[in-house]
Amino acid sequence: MPQERDPHLPLTEINPAVPHPARIYDYWLGGKDNFESDRMAAEQVIAAVPEVRETARENRAFLGRAVRHIVAGGVTQFLDIGTGIPTQGNTHEVAQAADPAARIVYVDNDPMVMAHARALMSSTDEGATTFIQADLREPDSILTHPRLLDTIDLDRPIAILLVAIMMFVKDSEQPYDLVKRIADAAAPGSYLVVSHVSSDLLTPEAMERTLGVYNRASATMTMRTREEIIRLFDGFELVEPGVEKVHGWRPEGPIPDRPTAVYAGVGRKR
Ligand code: SAH
Repeated sequence: MPQERDPHLPLTEINPAVPHPARIYDYWLGGKDNFESDRMAAEQVIAAVPEVRETARENRAFLGRAVRHIVAGGVTQFLDIGTGIPTQGNTHEVAQAADPAARIVYVDNDPMVMAHARALMSSTDEGATTFIQADLREPDSILTHPRLLDTIDLDRPIAILLVAIMMFVKDSEQPYDLVKRIADAAAPGSYLVVSHVSSDLLTPEAMERTLGVYNRASATMTMRTREEIIRLFDGFELVEPGVEKVHGWRPEGPIPDRPTAVYAGVGRKR
């Protein structure tokens, strides 16, 4: 008898032969959940963009600062789309350290992330976490998912986390429309958190080489200008200092003196 499957789960299996963004990123962060194809792809990006490992760590640090900022602002419900493979400082750990009652819905379309769903659900007793394997490009499958509706209350403000994921949505897949559909489901006072690789921050050569690596991966990459990244916050008021280089967004210490190809920002829904 074939096992009955969750109709909300995409039919995907872990494929070690094709590099996957989640596993490439895991390699840069020093994780072990990656295959030879991912390591080769990750090294090719390092050859083109030598600071990419530090940028990956700085992106995680930004995620942590943004989550703490949001909890301090009184919002404790999180919709973290593009979760990634669990690593240090997962959203629920940061949020529940600040407020144990924080509730988190994780969403990722990669089966490798799904394989770690249990680790992503180790909630405090006061709060809650859940994981949904779904695709950002099908927002309704996320917004109407019973586990989302059981975990967070869309009538109250939430924080929508789109951290290092929008560059995996092509222009032809209507990235602005996707963000708007999710934002429309969120109450006023909700937050939007975005980080994004930017064509403004790379030389044409580094950009071409990086895009070449992702063109052979499971998801292609689209770089965007700072102006295009700011447009993702349509309907949101940007929190100070606006869309900044990822290590310069509300730094808690001195800003490291190195280049980065990632812009980041946080907005609050009007
Ligand atoms: N947000 C985390 C991880 C970023 S890596 C962080 O910033 O640290 C990007 C993640 O987005 C990967 O885990 C990848 O599987 C996921 N992803 C890419 N495209 C996606 C899509 N269309 N739907 C859902 N998840 C996606």
